[in-house]
Amino acid sequence: MQSVPEDINHLIDDNKLHYIPALKIVSIVFAVICTAFVPINILQSEPEIAVLNGVIAIFMYVSFFSVVKFGTLKVAVPTVFTMLTVLSIVYVVTGGHEGFGITWILLIPILTVYCLRLKPTIIYQAFMLLLVVLAIHSPLQQFCYPFSDAVRVRFPIIFLAEAAVAILLKINMTKSELYKDRLIHQNINYKLKAEAANRAKSDFLANMSHEIRTPINAILGNDELILRESQEKDVLDYAKNIKNSSKSLLALINDILDFSKIESGKQDIIPADYKPATLFSDCYNLVAMRATEKNLTFTAEIDSQIPSVLLGDEVRIRQICANLLTNAVKYTKSGFIHFRAKAERTSQDQVNLMIEVQDSGMGISKENLEHIFDSFLRVDEKKNKNIEGTGLGLAITKQLVKLMQGQISVESALGKGTSFRVSLPQKIISQEPIGAYRVGEVQSEPQYKEGFHAPNGKILVVDDVAMNLKVFVGLLKRTLIKIDTAGSGAECLKLIEKNKYNIIFLDHMMPEMDGIETFATMRTMDNNMNRTTPVIMLTANAIEGAKAEYLSAGFADYLSKPIHSDQLEQMIVKYLPKELIES
Ligand code: ADP
Repeated sequence: MQSVPEDINHLIDDNKLHYIPALKIVSIVFAVICTAFVPINILQSEPEIAVLNGVIAIFMYVSFFSVVKFGTLKVAVPTVFTMLTVLSIVYVVTGGHEGFGITWILLIPILTVYCLRLKPTIIYQAFMLLLVVLAIHSPLQQFCYPFSDAVRVRFPIIFLAEAAVAILLKINMTKSELYKDRLIHQNINYKLKAEAANRAKSDFLANMSHEIRTPINAILGNDELILRESQEKDVLDYAKNIKNSSKSLLALINDILDFSKIESGKQDIIPADYKPATLFSDCYNLVAMRATEKNLTFTAEIDSQIPSVLLGDEVRIRQICANLLTNAVKYTKSGFIHFRAKAERTSQDQVNLMIEVQDSGMGISKENLEHIFDSFLRVDEKKNKNIEGTGLGLAITKQLVKLMQGQISVESALGKGTSFRVSLPQKIISQEPIGAYRVGEVQSEPQYKEGFHAPNGKILVVDDVAMNLKVFVGLLKRTLIKIDTAGSGAECLKLIEKNKYNIIFLDHMMPEMDGIETFATMRTMDNNMNRTTPVIMLTANAIEGAKAEYLSAGFADYLSKPIHSDQLEQMIVKYLPKELIES
């Protein structure tokens, strides 16, 4: 049989399955037997025993009622076992083993094993043993003989009752085991189906976002070329609009991809050394323009005591700050946004990085506050329908904070504003504080200026999408670097036999021979003129962990699509021999 997953085991309530039906059977059978004994006792002129049986019957009915009506064992278990004990004592004083009353004693341990949990069962067994020893070896035995004839009359009734109870319990046990098996199998099937559906959804989201990123790459790249080359104001305005919308679309795709990664447990936190000063400055600059456009006062207070180098996942911390700051700008019509950061020391080499984003915006009502971290949920949909968003930002933020063992809290008052606080434990790499620090002035988007010239450098770029090659070449046009292009892995292999390149950029997803296969073949070729040339992976695969995979495959580095012209230039400067660079 398949092993039962823990979460399914929890779903099955053993009380409902075993103990409640068992207690129902035991209490009703004994209630009926004891009731039946009342007239027998009276006929046999035993008024005390008749009263005793009557009382036991009443208790057993109450116990039965409590199980049937309230589904609880709290009354039934102590009642049934007290009454069974009384019956056992009655057995001792009304005939003992001589009177076949021993059958009570045999029956009761069976019932206790079946109806009680281990610990009380063991105690009860010990108690019953004591009672049997007393019945057989004590002077009480003498006292019991006079009643042995009376007990002999009752024996067939007792025997029938015991048999009835045993059969009913056995039927119940078999039925409930079968039912439990069925329930477990059913639940395992549901679980497998749900997991398969969830996997299909995650794969679909990852594939779709990959497919969508590719055309956005082309749109952004071509748009960048228009922005650089056009002199016409109208055209430049259109191009700026295209850029903004494409960036929003890209942010949305990235959110969906991040969310599916977190959901499928593929999101890893990758700690590395980073400078908090640069991180906060970049986050500030990211939203400063939008805040200024909305006439919001945007201030940043970065504590001078924050250590200058920390160990943490800079990319994810940036994402958290960006989400909170973007929301503050989105949901604030007038007033201010404060961005604060400080470090609380928790040990010699550890700080809690505290980040706060406060705004004077629309605020969130008390009842909505508990839902804002839910995925795909946007609160106050009517009010916010003109504000773009997916309802994923805070869900991702919360998950990222959790993955970093941090905490996030929110305070908000409707119409007054909201304040998000995040605390993230980070290791200190450099104890030196960042010092008095001013985040960047609000700047309008800088005019593009090429970062270097390399007319004697020669690179090869391989991509199956012609548009991507065109954009790549266009982005580097002003650097004067020589660029060869190849539309497939096979074409690349031909070119590297004839030419020596300073850097090779290789796309990952290509039909027939993909980037990784092309690279592996390159390494085995005798006539490859580029054995020592750094090969950089170009990919729209934003899955975390991909970078490590590429590096371990032997790639020098990795550049994700859509290609940002400044990142591309930095990558070339990093790998191009220094003597070829003219600034
Ligand atoms: P969205 O993409 O809708 O902004 P989020 O997950 O980032 O998704 O936020 C979820 C909801 O929380 C938003 O729809 C908004 O109603 C509310 N919210 C988030 N931040 C703020 C804020 N600073 N002020 C007011 N409401 C906010």
